[in-house]
Amino acid sequence: MTKADYYEILGVPKDASEDEIKKAYRQMAFKFHPDRNPDDAESESKFKEAAEAYEVLRDPQKRARYDRFGHQGLGDTGFGGFSSTEDIFGTFSDIFGEFFGFGGASRGGRGPRPQAGNDLRYDLRVSFRDAAAGTEATLKIPKHVSCAECDGTGAAPGSKAETCRQCNGMGQVQQNQGFFRIAVTCPVCRGEGTVIANPCPRCKGKGVTPDVRELKVRIPAGVDDGSRLRLRGEGEPGMHGGPPGDLYVVIYVEEDKVFRRQGQDLVVTLEMNMVQAALGDKLKVPTLEGEETMDIPKGTQSGEVFSLRGKGLVHPGRSQRGDLLVEIIVNTPKGLSKKQEELLREFLALEEDKPLKKVKNFFKKAKDAAMGS
Ligand SMILES: [Zn+2]
Ligand SMILES: [Zn+2]
Repeated sequence: MTKADYYEILGVPKDASEDEIKKAYRQMAFKFHPDRNPDDAESESKFKEAAEAYEVLRDPQKRARYDRFGHQGLGDTGFGGFSSTEDIFGTFSDIFGEFFGFGGASRGGRGPRPQAGNDLRYDLRVSFRDAAAGTEATLKIPKHVSCAECDGTGAAPGSKAETCRQCNGMGQVQQNQGFFRIAVTCPVCRGEGTVIANPCPRCKGKGVTPDVRELKVRIPAGVDDGSRLRLRGEGEPGMHGGPPGDLYVVIYVEEDKVFRRQGQDLVVTLEMNMVQAALGDKLKVPTLEGEETMDIPKGTQSGEVFSLRGKGLVHPGRSQRGDLLVEIIVNTPKGLSKKQEELLREFLALEEDKPLKKVKNFFKKAKDAAMGS
């Protein structure tokens, strides 16, 4: 395999100064660092290449040998003459200590990185009428509070958390990855830097105990099924100084026995019998504010809809309310008394005496349609 030229890898001229080489390497390392390009094999190989080139060109002796004899001059190790991985790591830690805040000793005593809290979702059931009128709900949100028994330390009373021996309290340890090493969260103390030998019996060493937080939420009038309210910063708390997550309240509006929703309008279905519908009547109509009397005109057909303006739903953010739509279903009466039957027969006889204008028209229309006119 032909190896690429070290100067080309770093993008510097053959007579580049030590500073230029260092600067070029830093730029490449920053760009291709595995932390910024997770699971990117190409970046990783570029990163390694740059590290290899830098390891040679930063050393005047190695650089001189490379200039004279090329890759051959560095021995056939395949790694440009690295004596050990420790050697490479030395390069990394002093470079990355400055950029990333990790890399062994340069990390110093700083704690683990800040982590934002998780978002929470809360499913809230609201009755149809509460959703229509708007309401206030009290959410009960599980949370963790500092343990009262151990004051949040996680250590049994009378004992103390001790500095983690694995990472010496750094919270991170070095791990080999390929031929270089990276800093990872300490598996023993999980980044805390301390371990608890004698855990608090109440919180089992966690330092926190479960609790419930109550949160009052205003549900706006007219809210629809499936609406989401976002409450910023009311999610889980962040870790190590990170911001808290958000709380999403998902609203489920229960169905109502009387009203149905149609956008901003409310729909109510009322029944009346054939004779009522023919003669017209006053009907009692349920509204969100109570019953109202409505005039239904004579000759109303089944399925006809009448509306009461402004008796529908409030739209969040709009001043005008929707309408209340009253849908009429006309029933045919059953179980007639003898007297009722007689009257209806009489009624029918009168209908038959009338000129059959409508029926004739119907036949004429059907005939016209059949002839295609
Ligand atoms: Zn540790
Ligand atoms: Zn405790």
